[in-house]
Amino acid sequence: MSNSPTNTDNSAHTVAVLAVQGAFLEHRLMLEKLGAHVIELRQARDLEQSFDRLVLPGGESTVQAKLLREQNMLEPLRERIAGGMPVLGTCAGLILLAKNVEGDEVNGFGTLDVTVKRNAYGRQLGSFHCEAEFGELGNVPMTFIRAPYIAEVGSNAKALATVDGHVVAACQGKQIGTSFHPELDNDTRIHQLFLDL
Ligand code: GLN
Repeated sequence: MSNSPTNTDNSAHTVAVLAVQGAFLEHRLMLEKLGAHVIELRQARDLEQSFDRLVLPGGESTVQAKLLREQNMLEPLRERIAGGMPVLGTCAGLILLAKNVEGDEVNGFGTLDVTVKRNAYGRQLGSFHCEAEFGELGNVPMTFIRAPYIAEVGSNAKALATVDGHVVAACQGKQIGTSFHPELDNDTRIHQLFLDL
């Protein structure tokens, strides 16, 4: 049941997926499966299209931040996120949203009041899969790939999920950040939650 698309009509939503680098296609496919309209952001010109929410995919956060800056998309998108546009950041996307990155200069959006630690699981545990509770959704599958975890949740943010004593998802207003990749499993509930924001 939890894996099947809902009857919710998502066709009114246009989701912009950041597509400068990384695993954006899987997000696109999942959002389209849910009936949402999807556009891809590669350059400043793409921001002229209308969209009401944003997905920041996994990949390499330092590269994504650099490309966002070079393409003049960082500031306009930061303003929209700060202004309340719903955003889902996964893995590298969480790092871009984080206000602080432990021991690293990523210079992303910095709109989510958390401190993240990049590549926090080390080499041996670089990738793993588990199930854990996520907010009100109950257990969801979680795929981690060279993932960060949230070392500290600031007073403006709220933890949504914890695995092995580490926070792996948090939210603040209409921002959701996850250490793991919900787009890589068949469970669509986190994307639906994002579309419902
Ligand atoms: N290790 C990457 C980073 O630090 C994130 C990995 C991912 O998005 N799967 O940006």
